[in-house]
Amino acid sequence: ILKVDSVLMQFGGLKALNNVDLSIKRGTIHGLIGPNGSGKSTMMNVLTGIYIPTAGNVLYAGESVVGKTSSDIALSGIARTFQNVQLFGEMTAIQNILVGLHHTFKSNMVEIALNLPRYKKESQEAYARAMALLKFVGLEDFANEEARNLPYGKQRSLEIARALALDPELLLLDEPAAGLTAPDIKELLRIIRKIRDSGITFILIEHHMDVVMSVCDTVSVLDFGQKIAEGKPAEVQADEKVIHAYLGT
Ligand code: ATP
Ligand code: MG
Repeated sequence: ILKVDSVLMQFGGLKALNNVDLSIKRGTIHGLIGPNGSGKSTMMNVLTGIYIPTAGNVLYAGESVVGKTSSDIALSGIARTFQNVQLFGEMTAIQNILVGLHHTFKSNMVEIALNLPRYKKESQEAYARAMALLKFVGLEDFANEEARNLPYGKQRSLEIARALALDPELLLLDEPAAGLTAPDIKELLRIIRKIRDSGITFILIEHHMDVVMSVCDTVSVLDFGQKIAEGKPAEVQADEKVIHAYLGT
C-alpha cells in the first residue's frame, strides 16, 4: 500500500532521513522505532505532506504523494495522529469528531459542531457517525466533555477516533503510548487491534517495546536518519546493531 523509495530529508547540513526505503503491505501493522532524533517523526511528516523530501519518492497505492498538500493526502486515505496531542481543547469530544467528518458530509461541520443542539436534527447522520466512532474507541460516555478536560489517555483515544473519521486506509500513529499508564496502554492495544481487524493498515512509531512486540507484524529501525534493521519484532530486538543504537553509542 505504501512504498518509500530512497527518501532524503535534509535540514541544512543535517540528514534527518538518509536514503530510507520502506515497503508497507496492506493489512499489516508496521512499527517504526529508533532512538530520539533518529528521524521517525520526520518520516511521518514526509508521508503526510508536511515536509517535501529533498530527494526520493513516496508512493501510496501506486501514486506519488510528493508535492501533494497535506489535506489532499489525508483525503486520499492517509490519516495520522501527532506526537503531541492536537485536539480542539475547548470543543467537546463529539465536536472534535464532527470536525473530522467535514469531508464526508461536505456541509460546514465546524458550524454544526459548534452549534450542535441547533443542528442535531439536520446533522443526524453525522452525529450518529461521530457517536459510533466515539463508541469504537470506548469514549461514548465522554461525548460532551471538553477535550482538554479528558484524562490524557482518553485524549489519545479521541485523537485516534478523529483520524478514523477520515475513513483512512493507512493510519499513522506517532508514539500513541507515550505518557500513558499501564491500563491506558492495554486499552490502546485493544483499540489498535480492533482497527486492524477492520482492515486498516498501520505505521506505528513507538518507544514502548512491549507495544511494538505485541502488535507489530514487521518493524524498521532508524538511527541517525538511516534504516539500520528491519524484520519481525523479535528478530529486530535481538539485532546487534539495534541494541547498539539503543545503548546510545
Ligand atoms: P523522537 O523520538 O524524539 O520523537 P524522532 O525520531 O521523531 O525523535 P525527528 O523529530 O524526526 O526524530 O527528528 C530527526 C532530526 O531532524 C532531529 O535531529 C531533529 O532535530 C531534526 N529536525 C526535525 N524537524 C526539523 C526541522 N523542521 N528543521 C530542522 N531540523 C529538524
Ligand atoms: Mg518523534
